[in-house]
Parts: sequence; structure tokens; C-alpha cells
Amino acid sequence: MTYAYLNDIFLPLEEVKISPLDRGFLFGDAVYEVIPIYEKKPFLLEGHILRLQRSLEETRISKPKKWKDLEEIFLELVELNETPNQSLYIQISRGVDVHRSHLPTEDIEPTLFIVSFDLSLNPYRSDNNLEGIKVSLQEDTRWKRCDIKATTLLPNVIALSDAVFSGSQDVIFYLNQEVTEGASSNVFLVFEEHVFTPPQSKKILSGVTRNHIINLLKDLNLASTEKVIKVDDLFKADEVWLTSSTKEIQPVSEINQIKLSVTPPEQALWKRVLESFHK
Ligand code: PMP
Repeated sequence: MTYAYLNDIFLPLEEVKISPLDRGFLFGDAVYEVIPIYEKKPFLLEGHILRLQRSLEETRISKPKKWKDLEEIFLELVELNETPNQSLYIQISRGVDVHRSHLPTEDIEPTLFIVSFDLSLNPYRSDNNLEGIKVSLQEDTRWKRCDIKATTLLPNVIALSDAVFSGSQDVIFYLNQEVTEGASSNVFLVFEEHVFTPPQSKKILSGVTRNHIINLLKDLNLASTEKVIKVDDLFKADEVWLTSSTKEIQPVSEINQIKLSVTPPEQALWKRVLESFHK
């Protein structure tokens, strides 16, 4: 049985009931986080909590009453769901309103929903011969506040399902010939052992994994630069990576059905960074 947490109680997931007047349901008026749990311990927890706090501030959604207890609640839920590696989902919506109106009623209580599922570990950790990810390039049709981790993900959902329909596994978005990010990941490129990633802006989510990797690269004495990446650069790079909390780092081997001539895994930087990922 999978357990969840709603507002102030733990309960089996199938017993969770949320009102249709919840603004998360009606308007996508909600923000969220996905936190990886390894051996029952949250990974990079502080980064996720800080980003969640920022998403709440940017949307003026109030903090739930249990804000200060979140870490304790996460750990208890992880225990209830038993498996060592989990993907923990936390969503905070503006709350249940008395009627449907774009303008929220003042002082409604936010809805706090948390659940966790089994996390399959990044397969590139152990399998050197695994082929890289096939991605499709798609125009970024999302809104202009992609820095907020909001649940309004319809463009991402459509892009990913189009990609899978056309035989790819993932998406890289571009806007005016500039690479923004993946449908649920950030993008990195390597040219001659120098790592590049698009700079933080409202066009991308500031990935907790992205920031962890930038710090790791410094520790490993590897050069890294935040810089605008052009679509053409993707086809010239020695390596293209997708990064996220559940993917960690994964190499891309094909874009729009064109095979990339990338560095083999034994010499690739992604492999070195991945090896020091949890140290
Ligand atoms: N960009 C988007 C659009 C995402 O959905 C995600 C995954 N949450 C990321 C980037 C990567 O963020 P993180 O490393 O914090 O998981």
C-alpha cells in the first residue's frame, strides 16, 4: 500500500480526497517539488525547500501550517512507504475556495499534498553500454515564468507525448534558436572538456541537480560556463546531458533522429561527474 499525507494526516493514497473547488484542480494554481530519496534519506533537501519557498513567494501562495515540520513529515512518509529509494512528490495549492473565480478569496488555507513512489535508480550509474537518450527538438511553447515550479505542465506533457509518439524518449526545447531546457530536465553540453549550460533566467527552471553539478564541476577542477546555447551547438558538442533529480545525469545520443558523434562513456565527463555525484 502507498501512503500519502494531506494537510495534517497520513493516510493510504486511495483514501485521499481533494475538493473539485481546490484551485490546484480548477486553475493549476499550485506549485510542487520532486525530491529523490536514497537509502531513506532526502538528497539535496535544502535546495528543494528553498526553491519551493521561492515558488510560493513568486505566486503569493501561503505557506502551509505544517511548513516547519516538512522534513519530519517527509521522513515519516518515507518510513511508511518502506522502500529505500523513493521519489517524493510535494504539492502546495492555493487551497479550496468557496466558488470558482480567477481572483482567489483572501486567507484561504493552502492544500498540502505529499506522496512518494519507488524510484528506479539512474540506469547510467551501472550500465556503461547503455545507449544514450534519443530526444526530439521542439519549439518552447511554455509561459514566460518557467523559473517557477508550477503544476501547469500541459505544454511539457504535450511535448513529451509528441516526442514519444515520434520514437524519441525525451524533449529539448528551443526558443528563437536558443536551447532552453528539457521537458523535465536541464541541458548541459561539453566542448573539449569545458562544460556549458544555459544561464539562469525566467526561461528555465533553476534545477537543484543543475546547481549541484555546477558545484561538483568546480570541486573536480573542470571548467564550466553558464552561457546561451544555440540549437546548432547541440550537434557539434562532444557530449549532451539531461539532468534532473530523478535522472541525475543522462547522456543524449540522438537528436531528431540524427546520431550524435559523442565521446564514449569511458572517457566522457558525464561519467566522471556521475561517479562523484553522491560523494
Ligand atoms: N526543468 C524542468 C522543466 C523540470 O521539470 C525539471 C525537473 N523538476 C528540471 C528542469 C530539473 O530540476 P531538478 O534538477 O531540480 O529536478
